[in-house]
Amino acid sequence: MGEARSETKGRVTISRRGAERLRAGHVWVYRSEVAEARDVQPGALVTVQEEALFRPKQLSGKSVRLTGPRVLGSALYSTASEIAVRMISSKPVSDLEQLVRERIRAAIAYRGRFVENTNAYRVIFSEADFLPGLIVDRYNDLLSMQIVTQAMDAEAMRGVVVSELLEAFNPVAIVERVDPRVRRLEQLAEKESGVIYERTRTLLAGETPVAPESDGGSTSAGAGRGRPSPHNPLKDGVGTAAHVNTKRQVTTEVQMNGVRFVYEALGGQKTGAFLDQRENYTAAAQYARGEALDVFCYQGGFALHLAHKCSRVTGVDSSRPALEMAEQNALLNGREIEWIEANAFDLLRDYADAGRQYDGVVLDPPAFAKSRQNLQTALRGYKELNLRALKMLRPGGTLVTCSCSYHVSAADLLETVTAAGVDSHRNLRLLENRGAAKDHPSVLGIPETAYLKCLILLVT
Ligand code: SAH
Repeated sequence: MGEARSETKGRVTISRRGAERLRAGHVWVYRSEVAEARDVQPGALVTVQEEALFRPKQLSGKSVRLTGPRVLGSALYSTASEIAVRMISSKPVSDLEQLVRERIRAAIAYRGRFVENTNAYRVIFSEADFLPGLIVDRYNDLLSMQIVTQAMDAEAMRGVVVSELLEAFNPVAIVERVDPRVRRLEQLAEKESGVIYERTRTLLAGETPVAPESDGGSTSAGAGRGRPSPHNPLKDGVGTAAHVNTKRQVTTEVQMNGVRFVYEALGGQKTGAFLDQRENYTAAAQYARGEALDVFCYQGGFALHLAHKCSRVTGVDSSRPALEMAEQNALLNGREIEWIEANAFDLLRDYADAGRQYDGVVLDPPAFAKSRQNLQTALRGYKELNLRALKMLRPGGTLVTCSCSYHVSAADLLETVTAAGVDSHRNLRLLENRGAAKDHPSVLGIPETAYLKCLILLVT
């Protein structure tokens, strides 16, 4: 795969402001901060330098260059995205393919060290693993991959990624999940979600073979090896369960913290699980008792974890397919949970007005603030939800309240919940101030990697 070896021909000159951000530990440069881009192709490996500082010298009557252009490192360039430059190294990079291989191995080793008690976790998380534009999740024996930048979408790069993944995991299948909106924004060719690699297997009687979609041939490198993975980061003890059927639906079963979940890689919502909440499930369950309400429950992540500690658990979500999956998960775990399809805002208002009481409430809404502009509206939404939840909590109950909006900071959320506490005349004690699970690393200097907040509060 020598074609993935890129020469750094392109050179991008960035403004002082962009350079300052990089010096503070960030890895992005916005298009408005690009002063000049020379020899840049979509997705190219480029050298990034800071604009030279000129200061006119009166004496000679000529401009004298005091500081030459300072090279800041190597980056992957996008000709379409508002984020024009994503740094990949502070050093010159001569062999991008080799660097990406090393980064993938390091990401897998990190999970081997810090991820426990699950066979579903994020293996590679883009900038948080210094692999901008690449996301890979493991669901037991399946891998799900998402590519969101021109650089990672290059055929040769895909080959590198897939061959590393096959080597490390020997998965039954790799599916690619496509977000059409992201591909359009990045000016990438249209593509559909689907299976991009399938391990060859013996066909069952009466089954017709389905040819796996090839990915330039490079993905079949590890096909049919059938040997165990040399690197098995987790001792999960769950046998191969994945199944790719003739309609190309891919399903498997995963376990997190001993709780079982069905995973449909190309199913209705195509979102997979919210793996970033995995450690918060255990934390929430630690304090759970009595009656619990899981609001914005999706496929039941919190509800199923609370069920073994509570006498009664109710999950609420507006998505019927999510609730159907939640019920399948409940059956799989032998739990009885009540699922309600409703708008959470309406339901909380009605339940609070009707005087319903709970010992625990979980609030895990979708990102309300998609941009800085609607932060205030978003905060009003969070306040209302928290206020209603607090009204329904019995003294000694716990509130688990989350925000996955990057634009809502940890301080914003704390302030909002504090105000809700004041308005509802309740005292709140902070039991835990948490973020995403460790397979979604939060990198200092890149605040976008610390998007998830989860507060656990004792309410009296
Ligand atoms: N707690 C879940 C993840 C929640 S994601 C877990 O751990 O897996 C947010 C969920 O909110 C989605 O399932 C979405 O269907 C649901 N949702 C969005 N708007 C809603 C609304 N107004 N009322 C109820 N549910 C809503």
